[in-house]
Amino acid sequence: MAHPSFGNGWPNCARSNMVTLVRRDGLRLPVHRELADLVSILMDLTELAGGYNIVPSWTWGFACRAIAGTNQPSNHSWGTAVDINAPVNPRKRPLTTNIPRSVRELWKANGFRWGGDYKTSVPDAMHFEFMGSVADARAITARLRRFLSHAAPAPRQRTPATAPGEKGRIMELQRLLRVAPDGAIGPATVSAMNRNLIGWPPEVRRRTGRNVSLPGNSNPNLVRWLQRQGRRKGYLMTVDGSIGPQSNHLIVVVLGQADAICGANGYRAAVR
Ligand SMILES: [Zn+2]
Repeated sequence: MAHPSFGNGWPNCARSNMVTLVRRDGLRLPVHRELADLVSILMDLTELAGGYNIVPSWTWGFACRAIAGTNQPSNHSWGTAVDINAPVNPRKRPLTTNIPRSVRELWKANGFRWGGDYKTSVPDAMHFEFMGSVADARAITARLRRFLSHAAPAPRQRTPATAPGEKGRIMELQRLLRVAPDGAIGPATVSAMNRNLIGWPPEVRRRTGRNVSLPGNSNPNLVRWLQRQGRRKGYLMTVDGSIGPQSNHLIVVVLGQADAICGANGYRAAVR
């Protein structure tokens, strides 16, 4: 028996309460209008999360009838029961099913009783029937929707491929460094730069008093980036990706500010 809030069942089935749930795989499933969204979500999860394929021609919903072999109205007559993949989940003893436990638990956790759990009558593995009221169905549907909207991956923040001016130069640097390109020189950019760029030349070490020990081999793409900044600032230098006297000079005067080497200020000076 369905909850009274779902209206009449067999023999006075309320066909006007039914809607046809249409799925992309071609399934057309008549169910009670108050359950259509919930059934739709659970079928999606059955397939997407549960990995269990629902075969359209083996799957049924509303049917104005009694429980087989009785005068008791079937929950199908309220449109509150669905049968999934009937031929491989027959109503028979012993229990015969290929519905994964996770799928059964999914439906059971969301207000349905599974026919395979019947103890006093013949197990009916294809059969799921809703046990609650219309209000319960609405609350469970809303809860599932909230859960799914949280579970969905956050929309990817689209970073523009380029940005003009200083911000664009910083983003170019950040892409080379594999730092999220936000166009602002922060700690992540500074430490990535310091890890990647330069075996600081002796002049810089002397001038800053810092004994910075960094990899001697620079990333040529980063050196090229630095050299482009130098060209932009009017230094006559070749953009060749290797650190020669000119690049050293640039590093000393632009990046190697006494208080800025290996800090954000030097890199900000380079892109200005
Ligand atoms: Zn059934």
